[in-house]
Amino acid sequence: MPKRVTRIEQPKAAYRKRVAAYCRVSTDHEAQLDSLENQMETFRFRAAQRGDWDLVNIYADEGLSGTSLKGRLQFQQMIADCEAGKIDYIITKSISRFARNTVDTLQTVRELQGYGVQVYFEKEGIDTADSLSEMVLTIMASFAQEESRSISENVKWGIRKRFEAGHEVKVPLYGFYHTDDVLFLIQEDEAAIVREVFERFVHGEAPAVIMDDMIARGVKPPAGKCWKRLQIDRMIKNEKYAGDVVLQKTYIENHLTHKQIRNHGDLPKFRVENAHEAIVDRHIFEQAQKIMAMRNVAVGNSTYPYGEMLRCPLCGKALVHGSLNNFYYDGEKIQNGGWGCYSEGGCGDYLIIQNVLDEAMIKAYEEKYGEKKETVEFYWLDDTVEEIQLSEDRVTIKWRDGETSVVEMDFSEKRYSPSRYSVFYNDYLDRIRCGEKKNKYKFLMGLTPAAVQAG
Ligand SMILES: [Zn+2]
Repeated sequence: MPKRVTRIEQPKAAYRKRVAAYCRVSTDHEAQLDSLENQMETFRFRAAQRGDWDLVNIYADEGLSGTSLKGRLQFQQMIADCEAGKIDYIITKSISRFARNTVDTLQTVRELQGYGVQVYFEKEGIDTADSLSEMVLTIMASFAQEESRSISENVKWGIRKRFEAGHEVKVPLYGFYHTDDVLFLIQEDEAAIVREVFERFVHGEAPAVIMDDMIARGVKPPAGKCWKRLQIDRMIKNEKYAGDVVLQKTYIENHLTHKQIRNHGDLPKFRVENAHEAIVDRHIFEQAQKIMAMRNVAVGNSTYPYGEMLRCPLCGKALVHGSLNNFYYDGEKIQNGGWGCYSEGGCGDYLIIQNVLDEAMIKAYEEKYGEKKETVEFYWLDDTVEEIQLSEDRVTIKWRDGETSVVEMDFSEKRYSPSRYSVFYNDYLDRIRCGEKKNKYKFLMGLTPAAVQAG
């Protein structure tokens, strides 16, 4: 699979910067192609274009072929000026002009960041102020050092550097092991558990249920003596199981403190897709993320399994899920709650019991695919359904293949009796008491205002 690196966009703040430029030409053929004077002119032009830059100095080293920093006097002066607090930002043409090897580049950038100075590498488009991942810089610097290396090798190499630098957890991630040379090799017995957790979660099992089963079977937990709920959650959210790596989830505050800070958007994050062999199929991983998001909606308001598929037929607002703890269905407590028009700005006039909708969906699926489903699960909804349209007594399903099914929902033999504690019911009664929308209610629950008043 092709590797793809995507920058995860995050907001950044703008401020006025004291900018220095650094130029360098070596004695070899580069000199003819791009003279020092040309480079300097370019930077003057750039700075003049920018309203938020004050160009404080241009540092230039010439005629040096050396690979070390030692002979570069202007460079040394620039670092000293950074230390003295005269500079906020350095622009330079490329990583290879800035330093001749990875170690120099990274060490210098770290040192400069320690002084609060960021660097912009024009050619690579890396701005350490808003886009330094130490990792990405590592990768870029290693390109400059050895362009023939594959991206994959560079990523792995970068990760290994982070391991060496202590920035990554040295304990291998559950399901993986690593050797000195290769990271993220699959540990088959653990990987089988990871796959099972994902499969079960995607098929609708709650993390707590999966956890209980793991404990009952005596499966060894990822860490500690006993499985914990959070371990299941973290496993499901971990992109490494899909073969990806997100760079810069945490970063080091500066070279003085070495404090590790969680990146909440201060610096960009990068996702490297297919960085290593996946344990879990990408499609399953992505469905798991959607389900996780549905389950994580505001406390007690899970939107599983329909997510945002359901809209109010009266006003078009998204329906929200409620537990309907005090409603009854055929004389029994309602198990899966209902979906009502109770989102902000919703009309509040529509409510459907999930079991009734589920029955209709399962019926439609069976008619179309000839396969009986026991329950409605997000994974097959997501795979097959483009849109669900509700009305008073029927559900119209637009399938992803372009076909449409219409299924009647039969309420004739159902009995719903709300208890006096229901939020929905109280709201309903309040509206009737206040004389609002008396005859407009279209609850799909067999309820009419008369029935409520009688009961
Ligand atoms: Zn509505």
